[in-house]
Amino acid sequence: MLSAPRNFFVGGNWKLNGNKQEIGKIINFLTAGNLDPSTEVVCAPPTIYLEYVRKTLPSSVCVAAQNCYKVPKGAFTGETSPAMIKDVGVEWAIIGHSERRNVFGESDELIGAKVGHALEAGLKVIPCIGEKLEERESGKTEEVVFCQLKAIADNIKPDQWQNVVIAYEPVWAIGTGKTASPAQAQEIHVKLRKWLNDNVSADVAWKTRIIYGGSVTADNCRELARERDIDGFLVGGVSLKPDFVQIVNARQ
Ligand code: PEP
Repeated sequence: MLSAPRNFFVGGNWKLNGNKQEIGKIINFLTAGNLDPSTEVVCAPPTIYLEYVRKTLPSSVCVAAQNCYKVPKGAFTGETSPAMIKDVGVEWAIIGHSERRNVFGESDELIGAKVGHALEAGLKVIPCIGEKLEERESGKTEEVVFCQLKAIADNIKPDQWQNVVIAYEPVWAIGTGKTASPAQAQEIHVKLRKWLNDNVSADVAWKTRIIYGGSVTADNCRELARERDIDGFLVGGVSLKPDFVQIVNARQ
């Protein structure tokens, strides 16, 4: 069987953490660590540090915003546009993280619009999807993640899929220490890939990376990374620690 043309991808979502001193320590372990050159690594600092991190990290490590708005400019106090993110040399944005959805009330519709605008503006995007515990327990996982994925896919043009990495992050696993088992994660990744095959194209399904997020650690990353449809990770808590390097190197 042909092996999939999907480079391993590991994102570090620093969330609302860090100051220049602490960020300096993260930059040190990323710079000194022996990062697998075949893994694409993307770090997402708080917005205010984007330019500092971009200028300080080696260029082999990419930088992402944790969020962005759906228009280039205007009367939207507190927002940051994809054009501004690009202007400071940053190429990626995480969009629709579960904390944006559940703490800040972002809808599927808004997240879809943000994805569409960010891609049009030339950013690469990491849209996030995932079910809550009660949705999983009531058998609604597929319904929820397909609906979230459709709102995103509807805003992506065929030639833009190469700039998209889908993050499947079950909400019950984020920051809780409860990781999905490799089999649980693989099961949903296969279903998401089939959804892309049936609703977008076979080519997009084959080439688009689907990464897993939710309490990934240096201890569990290798087993998860062995699954055929897990193309990498989005990491929260551990992305602030030197163990992140082991997650980057999970396929070595
Ligand atoms: C995240 O913030 O996307 C995440 C997966 O967090 P954690 O790794 O801490 O569960």
